[in-house]
Amino acid sequence: MRYYSYSEKLKEKYGEKVYKIPVDIGATCPNRDGKISYGGCIFCSPQGAGFESLCSKISPSEQLEKNISYIGQKYKAKKFIAYLQNYTNTYMEPEKLRNILKELIRDDIVEIAISTRPDCIDKDILDAIDSIKKEYGVNITIELGLQSIKDSTLLKINRGHTVEDFYKSVSEIQKYHFEICVHIILNLPWDNDEDLVYCAKELSRIGVNNVKIHSLYIVKNTRLSEMFENGEISLISKDEYINRLGLFIGNLSPKICVERFFARAPEEETLFCNFGHSWRKLKNDFDDYIEKNNIYQGKDIKNENRNYRGDDLGNRKDKKFYQSFRNCYNCKI
Ligand code: SF4
Repeated sequence: MRYYSYSEKLKEKYGEKVYKIPVDIGATCPNRDGKISYGGCIFCSPQGAGFESLCSKISPSEQLEKNISYIGQKYKAKKFIAYLQNYTNTYMEPEKLRNILKELIRDDIVEIAISTRPDCIDKDILDAIDSIKKEYGVNITIELGLQSIKDSTLLKINRGHTVEDFYKSVSEIQKYHFEICVHIILNLPWDNDEDLVYCAKELSRIGVNNVKIHSLYIVKNTRLSEMFENGEISLISKDEYINRLGLFIGNLSPKICVERFFARAPEEETLFCNFGHSWRKLKNDFDDYIEKNNIYQGKDIKNENRNYRGDDLGNRKDKKFYQSFRNCYNCKI
């Protein structure tokens, strides 16, 4: 493999295929309810990102039960990750979140992934999550939406937090040894190739665990859709996106797992998504592109990072994986 994929990581970590089950806990978002703003991020749809979740009126444990019995049977799966995906899942009283997390505990749930914003992380909420981890021995991943590593872009998309907020939240979370997955949009109209290269280097430097890369999709009836229809923004082409993705991966530490490369959104809800191609087609095109151009994860990390990567090798459980990069692609580290 030319990159460290999520399926590979889950197999390493749990010894078999593990499926992520979205659970909607009825969270809200400070960027929508007026605490920070009423509009939300300019790309956010009224239902947030929960296109795949069941209704939040169904209890979290029932949502798990329904989805697990379906997916478990279909794929013969035995281990699952409960994924609190929609809105800002740490934006509530710590005790309330603790009770919700308790409801998700089952023998076949090996991990809970909690999606949130960098400015909704504090000691009390992390303590509550940590108490569940310690009491039930379940792994925790915090999924942080960063989207862009430029404050000027965060302002344009009405994100309501800064890059500094992101750095602070990462260092707080790392004290608890939860894994961190960072969400990035690769083709926001205000970011260029250099910004994304810098972003990959920064994520490598601060040592996050996973990255989820999204291609920008434009949901109907959002501020972004107005801008798109009025010609206020222009988007890079599919080929430019694939080229940028190659640059990003080339500058990303090989110990960071890449959970996703493109967006997934229902066609009927969007004006634009994945350049009019299927997710699978784009993924194949990307795989061909990196094969043809001999691109692999971490290829462009220069010698000045040699010590850092050496340290990573010492810390990483699976040294074989790292070794395989060196053997396969002649990486001079
Ligand atoms: S932080 Fe997330 S849920 Fe809140 S407005 Fe932005 S995209 Fe939507």
